[in-house]
Amino acid sequence: MAANKPASLVDLKQLRLDDARALLGEDMVKELPDQETSPAAYLQGIINGLSELSLKDPLTGLANRRHFRTVLDRTIDMVARSGDPALLLMLDIDHFKKVNDTYGHPAGDKVLQAVARTLAKCVRPMDTVARYGGEEFVAVLPNCHVHYGETVAERIRQSIEKLSIPIAPGLEIGVTISIGGAYAPEWVRSTAAIWTERADMQLYNAKTAGRNRVALDQPQEIFVSAEEKNMLFGHLALGDPAWIESIAGESLDGSANGNAKRVN
Ligand code: GH3
Ligand code: MG
Ligand code: MG
Repeated sequence: MAANKPASLVDLKQLRLDDARALLGEDMVKELPDQETSPAAYLQGIINGLSELSLKDPLTGLANRRHFRTVLDRTIDMVARSGDPALLLMLDIDHFKKVNDTYGHPAGDKVLQAVARTLAKCVRPMDTVARYGGEEFVAVLPNCHVHYGETVAERIRQSIEKLSIPIAPGLEIGVTISIGGAYAPEWVRSTAAIWTERADMQLYNAKTAGRNRVALDQPQEIFVSAEEKNMLFGHLALGDPAWIESIAGESLDGSANGNAKRVN
């Protein structure tokens, strides 16, 4: 009965959704609710699909650079608030140009896809692996203690080294990867540019030291005890307005004066 139909402010037939729907690909389209019976859910499905696409690298299915930036900023906030260590890895396939030159661009694409799959398998669900561009990848690992960072970077390096990538019938090739990593300074609001630059510097070190290796800088530790941290930040956690007012104008994270400040 027409009277029982859900009221809708927008008639979907007036929207040009077909182009958007075509972008989604078969799998996503199959999941869409029926347009006639659930117009709002259908529209939401299209929006969700497009949002997902806008965060993904089309070749590898990994997060794209835009998504990486969002995750990096979120992680910087988290480290400044919680002091939990976070690691940024930059990964670059060694001599990748030779793969393209020797076997062709489509073979190069297969290598990028195989490397991406392996990277995604080597990290925890809470970590984000993204394609940074070309044959470069990044991984953001929140809550990552030193021993775990070293282990995971080395695990990635070895897993890539062991890969046998089929690029044509009866033809498999291997590649290696160089990895640079930097920890975010704890309890301090770093910037995405500084953090990325520090990881990139380590990647450069790994490359110049001979490739197929890992170079990590050490965490920028601050030497305060748990008790001191509580004294410094406990009031903030409890939202004590008097204490917050007493430090008004002074920025613990340096965001007010634009300078990152370390508490040593
Ligand atoms: P290095 O060990 O110093 O990193 O050397 P490299 O050859 O890996 O680095 P270089 O920057 O010289 O070459 C990177 C190559 O990656 C060149 C470019 O054609 C290729 N490339 C970038 N994006 C893609 C892509 O999407 N697909 C393919 N097949 N190749 C790509
Ligand atoms: Mg390279
Ligand atoms: Mg490169």
